[in-house]
Amino acid sequence: MDLRVPVGSPISRVKCVVASCRYNDKGKNCVAESIEIQYPQAKNTQETDCATFRPKKEG
Ligand code: SF4
Repeated sequence: MDLRVPVGSPISRVKCVVASCRYNDKGKNCVAESIEIQYPQAKNTQETDCATFRPKKEG
């Protein structure tokens, strides 16, 4: 399943420092057209993840 989403303009209300993500710009902006955050039953910060993340090297 291809979960990639189109690239858009920076999401102004989201700060993301995951520079290894293909959607990350300058180590601070997310330029994915949309993002999905998991998990539904998260109880703390460590249990949340960006499901839209894709490594930069992925084709
Ligand atoms: S897709 Fe997720 S991990 Fe990647 S830059 Fe956007 S918010 Fe960060």
